Amino acid sequence: QVVTRFAPSPTGYLHIGGARTALFNWLYARAKGGKFLLRIEDTDRERYTPAAAQAILDGLAWLGLEWDEEPTSQFAGAERHRAVANEMLANGSAYKCFSTKEEIEAYREQAREDGHQNPFPSPWRDADPADHPDAPFVIRLRAPREGGVAIKDMVQKKVSWAASSFDDLILLRSDGTPTYMLAVVVDDHDMGVTHVIRGDDHLINAGRQSLIYKAMGWDIPVFAHIPLIHGEDGKKLSKRHGATGVEEYAAMGYMPEAMRNYLARLGWSHGNDELFSTEQAIEWFDFNGMGKSPSRLDFKKLDNVSAHHIKIADDQTLTDAVLGYMSAANLPMLTEQQTDDLKRAMPYLRERSKKLPDVLEKAAFILSHRPIEKDEKSMEILNSVSKGILKRLTTAIQDASWNHESLMQASKTFAESENLKLGELAQPIRAALSGKTVSPSVFDMMLLLGRDETIARLEESSV
Ligand code: GLU
Repeated sequence: QVVTRFAPSPTGYLHIGGARTALFNWLYARAKGGKFLLRIEDTDRERYTPAAAQAILDGLAWLGLEWDEEPTSQFAGAERHRAVANEMLANGSAYKCFSTKEEIEAYREQAREDGHQNPFPSPWRDADPADHPDAPFVIRLRAPREGGVAIKDMVQKKVSWAASSFDDLILLRSDGTPTYMLAVVVDDHDMGVTHVIRGDDHLINAGRQSLIYKAMGWDIPVFAHIPLIHGEDGKKLSKRHGATGVEEYAAMGYMPEAMRNYLARLGWSHGNDELFSTEQAIEWFDFNGMGKSPSRLDFKKLDNVSAHHIKIADDQTLTDAVLGYMSAANLPMLTEQQTDDLKRAMPYLRERSKKLPDVLEKAAFILSHRPIEKDEKSMEILNSVSKGILKRLTTAIQDASWNHESLMQASKTFAESENLKLGELAQPIRAALSGKTVSPSVFDMMLLLGRDETIARLEESSV
């Protein structure tokens, strides 16, 4: 069975790069009918807070990447990590190193002068335990000195290093705390992880980690190191390129479904398909479609993907998405009645909407009560029409059958009698019904508001 995992450090927010890593792990697990596990790498106790970890879970939940089983804590596994380090001591694949910080620093100094970067050769590697002093020590891996180290990577293909380029990495520090390198391997092994999918900044770690697997006689997982996300200028993604946290995308009004589509396309492709559902992504996902070069964040593309998903979402999903956006953007909650009205109006709000705030803006007419608040442009329009025209319009339409065709006919006839084109008449109607210049068509609004409310709003704005 395929087991993938996402192993974020609790930084207080879900970074967009992390979100994509999580997505690929999730897609692969779902594609293979496997499991997607979550491990919080919370060993940096100075920075750790429960809220910082929760923010990551919230980001994943918002994206719809549900994980299997309870999330685990790396910090909680310290005892187990120590036990493995001691097992490695016992089987000879690790050793106690008593070299002091000063000795190691002096070696590095010398190496710099001599112009090489060979890793520190601990004099304790081959020392007789009988000669061990009673002093603090670290536990180091006895890394191979000769030959090569190779890993299997589904994205980078075959990757190898000269064994001599790896140092005898530290497994346990002198205070007994496990290092990241040891903890990751033990956790991945214990969690039964079969596929490690993560950013390619961890590629060399995979080489070093493979040595620990070998030392313990454990199966090495298949790796997939994916290229990082860059900004539009091709440089490493940072704040100045725009939002980096997933919650910022929620607050800008992108739907989770659109984010999944867009993030999947950042580094992965399936033929020429740009717009797809999550179900399709699961069906199609494989590592052949994964590129080797960094992908660029492109907000124009994201907007196109977003517009597509707004257009095709069913009314309930889109309504839920708007409510989710309102909460992420700290907007006041809708009443039940407003929520029902919003859903009823959805077929008329989704067209030409790029983001959820566009939907909400068009929904203003159905969410507001009389007196309708008018924006500046609408005020101007209402002030410039011929006196009493909206009142006369109410007379012309109030006995019409309340459907699109009849309302259009009645309005057309009325416009002609006022020497106006229908489009010209539509402007003050729109202003009166919505108080805005962006809204669904005036007849759609009339239908959604109903006869009484329409007439009341027209009368209210009649000057
Ligand atoms: N905690 C590591 C990170 O956030 C994850 C490393 C891994 O996936 O093995 O970069």
